Order: sequence, then structure tokens, then C-alpha cells
Amino acid sequence: MQPWSSVPVPRVPGTPRPLRLFDTSAGEVKPTEPGPVARMYVCGITPYDATHLGHAATYLAFDLVHRVWLDNGHQVHYVQNVTDIDDPLLERAERDNEDWVVLAMRETALFREDMEALRVVPPADFVGAVESIPEIVESVGKLLASGAAYRVDDEYPDVYFRHQASGHFGYESNYDGETMAAFFAERGGDPDRAGKEHPLDALLWRAARDGEPSWESELGPGRPGWHLECSVIALNRLGLGFDVQGGGSDLIFPHHEFSAAHAESLTGEFPFAKHYVHAGMIGLDGEKMSKSKGNLVFVSRLRGDRVDPMAIRLALLDGHYRTDRSWTADALTAGAARLARWRQAVELESAPSAEAAVAELRERLSDDLDTQQALRAIDAWVEEALTTGGSDAEAPQLIRTAVDALLGVEL
Ligand code: ZN
Repeated sequence: MQPWSSVPVPRVPGTPRPLRLFDTSAGEVKPTEPGPVARMYVCGITPYDATHLGHAATYLAFDLVHRVWLDNGHQVHYVQNVTDIDDPLLERAERDNEDWVVLAMRETALFREDMEALRVVPPADFVGAVESIPEIVESVGKLLASGAAYRVDDEYPDVYFRHQASGHFGYESNYDGETMAAFFAERGGDPDRAGKEHPLDALLWRAARDGEPSWESELGPGRPGWHLECSVIALNRLGLGFDVQGGGSDLIFPHHEFSAAHAESLTGEFPFAKHYVHAGMIGLDGEKMSKSKGNLVFVSRLRGDRVDPMAIRLALLDGHYRTDRSWTADALTAGAARLARWRQAVELESAPSAEAAVAELRERLSDDLDTQQALRAIDAWVEEALTTGGSDAEAPQLIRTAVDALLGVEL
């Protein structure tokens, strides 16, 4: 698939700071240690609905990872998928009496527009599940051949993954069996599917059913399971042991646990990724934002209401990416006010020296993306610039460049 348009990221004078991030698997903040090319995979959308603020917050967090690595002189190989075939997409198309292909294309196009408006640096590889079916089929074949997978023996010969096959199952989430069972049932798993060897075994290939789209393959007609899609897309573009596997915290289990286990079984190597990084959930006015509650706030809706995407960006960054937090009208008002004040300050002909503020911005971001304190570092400079003033003619441009490059906010 075509990703969205590229976003220029300027170089920032001064000394970059290496990035430390919380790793779910290790349960602690630890340094990222990329080579010349940093490798990141972030799970993409299932395009049955528009991008809501929870999605946006997740992609903004990983955009900052991307930007801090660029600041440190790495190239970044960023891969993101689009789950353009899966049950939620088919269910929505059925509900709305719409062609699922048209629905997926429309929502993917809207997602691209939203990401571009928010100035998220695009992935180098933006890969759909449908276009990946040949490589997924090949991988299912390998897992069957090695004994990591099996077919259910009934009228629908679905292929399942023996969840313990990699020998490392559970290391990513660190959840106990009870928690795994609960999340597996809640988040798209099928513990009660008759004929499985174990309730936690995960679907790799769903044999064709009447009325469902399917693809011919050497496995028989069918369509791919979700976890394997991400495993294969990541593995075939980044290789095993890439730097960051990212997504929302609702992907910790089962999605990321199985994506890792599939890839580790396919290669016989470990680990799938060096860091597993998860963004918190965004609620609305204190309630969880969800389809079922009907309280989703869409980026495109805000854009339609002529909200400046940079104000949305600042509003979402004024909270730690790992914290579950709430979206409120006040948060957006505060983001817009901050944006206006920052823009006023960088229009000054001279201002106080900005070097310390930029160093502080780097320091805060490098510490597990502490965006709240990073924003306050810029606030402090802006406050001084607008009240006391200063004689440094280069300072406003330095702030403009640093805020653009490191926070993705165009002033
Ligand atoms: Zn994924």
C-alpha cells in the first residue's frame, strides 16, 4: 500500500540523547540500542471505522520514538500493517450493508489523511494483510511442517498454532494463565472452538465459509489469522530481533504474545523484538472510549470542525504515553492555547537563549518519552521570551526547529 506523504524532519543543533523506553517484557525502562538503521514495527488499524483519539495517541507516541532516533543519527526502518481483512471489518460491512473492500479502502484513506494532518512520519513499508497473503500462506505451511501448527479435524479445517510451540510463550506479557484466558476470550480469541488441542491455541488460517471472502492457496481456500499477519510482515521486512514492537496496551495479550511466538517458532530464534512498547488507552470525560459506548472522538471529526491538528497533537502529548488518560474539551482548549502562545514566541525577533530549553526537551523525551515535562521545558522558554524577552536573535528559530523535529509540532 502507499503510505501517506513524507514529513520533513529538520536537524536540530546541539547534542542528542539516546532513547530509553519501558519494555513490557522486562517490566522496566531500558535503553534502546539500535544499529545504524533502527527497526520498528507498530501494529496498524483494522479499517472499519475512522481514526479515533486513542489510535492517534498511540501513533503519536511511536512517532516520537522515530523522531528521537532520527535526532540520534539513526535511519529508521518503520513498518506498519493494515488489517484489511478480519472479522471486525466483515461484521461492520455486514451491519451497514456495505462492500467490505470499499469500507476498508475508504477508512484506510481517511487514516492516511489523519496521520498526515497530525504530521506523523510515515512508515517505509505500509503493508496490507490481503497483499501479504502469499507470504502468510508460506509461513503457515512452515509451521505445519515443523509441528508448531495443526489442522482442526472437522468440516472447516482451520489451522491453529500450538501456543507453547516456541518454548517462550508468556515472556512478552508476563500474564498468568487466568489473565491470559480472560484477555484471549475478550480480544478476538476463540477458546471454545471445538477440536482445538488447547483453548489458548491461536488461529493461523481460517478455512473458507459460505458468505465470507477467501483466497485460494496451497492450504486450501481461506484467510489469515491476525497475529500471524503481523509476525510475517515484520519478519520479512525487519528480520528477527528488531528494536521496537509497538501498539496500544490492549495488544499486549494475545496479539503481541502470539506475534512473537509465531515468529520465534518460524525462525527458531529469540526474541522477536528487543523492546515491546505499549501506549495507554484514551477515555472520554473519564469513561473508556469504545465502539460499544458510542463515545469515540474521531480525528477527522475534529479536523472537520476546523480544529488545528497541531493543537490535537499538543493536547495528546500533554499526558504520558503509557498512562490511561481521558480526553476532555478542556484538554483541547489547553492544547490550542499552548500552540497560540508558542507561535507568538517564535515570531519574536529576539528572545532568551534557547539552548538550555532544547537540551531539556531532549533529556525529557529520551527518558521514556516524558512529553509532559518536555512541553513544560518549552513553556518555560516561551514564558520568559514573552515576558522578560532577550537578545538572542537565533533563539526563536532554534525553538521552532526543535519543536518541529522532536515533537512534530509545526509552529
Ligand atoms: Zn499487529
